[in-house]
Amino acid sequence: MTAPLISVTDVHKSYGRGANRFDALRGVSLDIRAGESVAIVGKSGSGKSTLMHLLALLDQPTSGRIDLEGTDTRTLRGRALNRTRNRTFGFVFQQFFLTSGTTVLDNVMLPMKIAGVGRRERKRRGLAALAQLELDDKARNKALDLSGGQKQRTVIARALVNNPRVIFADEPTGNLDTATGAVVEDILFGLNREHGITLIVVTHDEDLAARCDRRILIRDGLIVADEAVAA
Ligand code: ADP
Ligand code: MG
Repeated sequence: MTAPLISVTDVHKSYGRGANRFDALRGVSLDIRAGESVAIVGKSGSGKSTLMHLLALLDQPTSGRIDLEGTDTRTLRGRALNRTRNRTFGFVFQQFFLTSGTTVLDNVMLPMKIAGVGRRERKRRGLAALAQLELDDKARNKALDLSGGQKQRTVIARALVNNPRVIFADEPTGNLDTATGAVVEDILFGLNREHGITLIVVTHDEDLAARCDRRILIRDGLIVADEAVAA
């Protein structure tokens, strides 16, 4: 057995203090192996996004620990944390988070700018990622002018430019119609199967969850089921 890619041990996460304290996660443990596709499902407010933010090192647990490839992530701070997040993870969120006034290519190049990649290389890899998502003809368009499906494909291209080990997707098809959502799903699962990218998807869509290797059900901040999905 190889070591897990991400290991979560008895993680708690509370928001607010005193009478306003809310315990969003109340003791969560799980391991994620490289190459898996994992769905995190549960009702609205159950703690799915909170768990994903912790897994992606976008936020820190109130207690408990998260190890990434054997490193206790509590030891990572500042630049080291940003670099690790930027090099290891790609993000595909429901609300797109594109800068609408700049070009599609500029949006896709942004994570490389943060990672300190030079301008020529940024452009080369940005255009290659857009070509992979069949969007190279839109590179010079403003992000604003894209359809919903094109926006989400742009977000996926942006998630890919640093060659991530893991893609985190929070309700990736939530704002898309059924047909467009299916295209986006096919792209994500293709990246998982063909490139071995670990896929962690937060969704309340059980059909999407059923396409994953594994389904983790969260209720009121606790994992109540963690099971392999029948093929
Ligand atoms: P889900 O993604 O399953 O809908 P979340 O993880 O977003 O759930 O939220 C879980 C609970 O934590 C919800 O009750 C939500 O209101 C609360 N919560 C999430 N983020 C914050 C925050 N920044 N401050 C206070 N409460 C929060
Ligand atoms: Mg959520």
